[in-house]
Amino acid sequence: MKITIIGAGPGGYEAAIMAAKLGAEVTVVEKNEVGGTCLNIGCIPTKALLASADVLTTSLEAEKFGVFNDHTTADLKQIVERKDKVVAGLVKGIEFLFESNRVNLVHGIGKLIDSKTVEVKRNDGGVETLVSDKILLATGSVPVCPEMFHYDGKKVITSTEALALKTPPKSMIIVGGGVIGCELGQFFSRMGTKVTIVEMADQILSTEDESVAKQLLRQFKREKIKVLTSNGVAEVEVQDSGVVVTLTDGKTLEAEMVLLSIGRASFSKGLNLEALGIKVDPQGHIEVDESLETSVKGIYAVGDLINTPFLAHVASKEGIIAAENMLGKNKTGVHKAIPRCVYTDPQVAAVGLTEKDVQKKGIPYKTGSFDFRALGKAKIIDKIQGQVKIIVDEKDVVIGASIVGPEATDLLAELTMAVHLGLTAEVLGDVIHPHPTLSEAIMEALHDVHGKSINK
Ligand code: FAD
Repeated sequence: MKITIIGAGPGGYEAAIMAAKLGAEVTVVEKNEVGGTCLNIGCIPTKALLASADVLTTSLEAEKFGVFNDHTTADLKQIVERKDKVVAGLVKGIEFLFESNRVNLVHGIGKLIDSKTVEVKRNDGGVETLVSDKILLATGSVPVCPEMFHYDGKKVITSTEALALKTPPKSMIIVGGGVIGCELGQFFSRMGTKVTIVEMADQILSTEDESVAKQLLRQFKREKIKVLTSNGVAEVEVQDSGVVVTLTDGKTLEAEMVLLSIGRASFSKGLNLEALGIKVDPQGHIEVDESLETSVKGIYAVGDLINTPFLAHVASKEGIIAAENMLGKNKTGVHKAIPRCVYTDPQVAAVGLTEKDVQKKGIPYKTGSFDFRALGKAKIIDKIQGQVKIIVDEKDVVIGASIVGPEATDLLAELTMAVHLGLTAEVLGDVIHPHPTLSEAIMEALHDVHGKSINK
């Protein structure tokens, strides 16, 4: 079986390796470095920068631990160089995996000719035609930049340019208080930039519970990050001295730079979808069925290109499932429990339904919660902000959870498993959790569902 994959982000590259492991002859077409948005301009570089900001903050607070470090400073240029090294190492890792799994990589722009043929304009100038039994589309997404915001990549930027800035701007207005806006907002604030986040909804992280957003907002206030909610940006005007932003309430704000983080759109430009009759929804996502096959038999699509959460772990899982289905399996149900993570300080992590969701749906529910401030390990590491909150249905099955606090994004795995497997609070709460660890907060919150938390 021959398979051609267009795009080597998490969706495309994981599909390629899985398909090769299952015995297919695989060619991947990628116009840039392998790893896609996630590795080159997304998940990995943002978290590498935030890791430096964490070290800085810990170092500035070292006195609390009886450790003295009088000369703590940060140099964004070196922080960015370190980030680039982390990325380059991981790009090499994927190239190595392609080689060892005999995945053929062609650098160039891929375009569909028919349901079995992809034409590649190679980066070296040549043109190549690839004929295969099945095709996977995994070309990802690009940032949304409406015209009235006058994106120029210099004073009005997106996350892509923000990740490469060598000196922190004096001031930055961030349009959009979602995950990317919050993560980069806190990063630049910690680098010394005066940050203002403008969010149209009535809270930052608008899809999460109010209590979750409030906890993060409290920390942002402490760090002097200004947050304007229920207020949109109507226009951005670029001037010699900086940028002037007009808000929907008519007020204006000035800053050295504007960072647009209002979302991303599926990227299928140039794929020639219309000619093949591949169906696309009004928002530009490619339509797929449960098996991730498009409206054209033998052509599959995954990741940010389809209407599922734009997250790397979703793209990877879909890539693996699409590879298996292209090779004859019939796998569905990919999207049962999708973890949502924000790598701010404190971190935010959630899975399943929020309390807002269950109330809207009229589902009878109970909650259990536990504050990190009552936990030994949180006190040991001096990270006492935040809470674990669990939501169960009337049969005690965990249907949602959120964590705000230290290592929330790693801690969430246990609760993702609970939602995925339909475990009850009682069954999971019976599991012994090691002491002293942050995971005890989850155990206590599970016990609290039944009013049995010992330390609450
Ligand atoms: P992509 O990763 O976008 O890969 C698509 C690839 O296709 C690209 O390499 C592109 O060059 C290539 N391509 C496009 N068209 C063609 C063509 N015609 N021919 C050849 N190649 C082509 N998600 C998380 O889960 N966790 C995070 O912490 C996180 N942080 C993020 C931070 C930022 C700043 C951003 C922007 C995104 C973040 N994401 C995060 C989202 C995550 O990066 C995406 O959901 C994920 O990369 C989608 O994977 P994909 O394989 O669908 O597409």
